[in-house]
Amino acid sequence: MQYGRAVGHPALGPASYRLSIREGKHSVYSFCMCPGGTVIPTPTEEKALCTNGMSNSSRDSGEANAAMVVSIPAERFGSQDAMAAVALQRQLERAAYAAGGGDHHAPAQSLKDFLQGETTQKLPTCRYRPGLKSANLARLLPDDLSRTLRQGLGHLCQRMPALAHPEALLIGVETRTSSPVRILRGDDGAHPDAAGLFPAGEGAGYAGGITSSAVDGIRAADALVSWLAKDGSSRLSPSASRG
Ligand SMILES: Cc1cc2nc3c(=O)[nH]c(=O)nc-3n(C[C@H](O)[C@H](O)[C@H](O)COP(=O)(O)OP(=O)(O)OC[C@H]3O[C@@H](n4cnc5c(N)ncnc54)[C@H](O)[C@@H]3O)c2cc1C
Repeated sequence: MQYGRAVGHPALGPASYRLSIREGKHSVYSFCMCPGGTVIPTPTEEKALCTNGMSNSSRDSGEANAAMVVSIPAERFGSQDAMAAVALQRQLERAAYAAGGGDHHAPAQSLKDFLQGETTQKLPTCRYRPGLKSANLARLLPDDLSRTLRQGLGHLCQRMPALAHPEALLIGVETRTSSPVRILRGDDGAHPDAAGLFPAGEGAGYAGGITSSAVDGIRAADALVSWLAKDGSSRLSPSASRG
């Protein structure tokens, strides 16, 4: 689909793609597309499941994957609870774990069946380990998100009909595309209320991906050095100095 008549040319590597579409207040877009890669489980909590994609340098798996993301505006939570998005993330990951049968199999559905609201009787083969379990993915998501995902994917398939390939597969769920929280920090890089705390990187809400996290880490280290240089080690408590 991407290379057209040039497909199979030895100078071409596995094709990549980037998709995005606006659906009302949400965006639906591809994220972290891995040509020649595979989807893997990446949970960090018990009885929860989330996925991510990766490829080896050879990029020769014969499969392509990307997260298909629905953006969620902050107003949707209708709450001042700073941890509301973390709660939704946890809810989705627990639902995915249960729908996969509770043994880290991932719930999956063919794209065609997801669009038509049907259960997939026979899942296409896929390298995901330990394996997949057929599930109705729309039931894992809150109604507004599954509706938006279905509309967005439907519109993308209209735009690029080859996307709706019979073996195109949706695997649930990738919930870690960006941090659901941001820890405050001032211009000096420090938390305004917690002296000596320098929030940095992806989990703190200041980066997304390897390079931006690394760069943010360097900035945080520079900020810490400047902070220490102002008053020297007197800014550290005795216990922190020992550490
Ligand atoms: C499978 C997979 C593939 C990815 N592929 C890509 C890619 O191709 N390109 C890309 O740009 N990004 C990719 N990412 C995302 C990338 O890995 C992250 O964006 C990046 O690692 C974030 O860096 P970080 O330093 O902010 O956090 P992390 O790398 O997560 O580092 C945080 C560290 O803190 C430690 N930690 C956590 N809690 C505590 C605690 N309480 N006490 C002490 N230590 C603690 C953790 O063990 C960890 O070592 C991928 C992620 C995954 C999971």
